[in-house]
Amino acid sequence: MDRALAGGMSERAVGGTPISGSDRPSRSFGRGRVCQEEGCGTRLSMYNEGRYCYRHEPMVVPRTRGKKIA
Ligand SMILES: [Zn+2]
Repeated sequence: MDRALAGGMSERAVGGTPISGSDRPSRSFGRGRVCQEEGCGTRLSMYNEGRYCYRHEPMVVPRTRGKKIA
């Protein structure tokens, strides 16, 4: 029984190999994008998923005891 179990597990491990070897680029949001704020034109980081630069990003600020950070 132990043997059967071990065999099944190793088979499973092989079959369940996650995606690998693909040359899919890591998650990014494109290069050369700029802030959508009129007249800004700040280049956005390709890791910035927003459409605005850090200064114009509509911030979703978690409520911190009613204190407004801005
Ligand atoms: Zn901006």
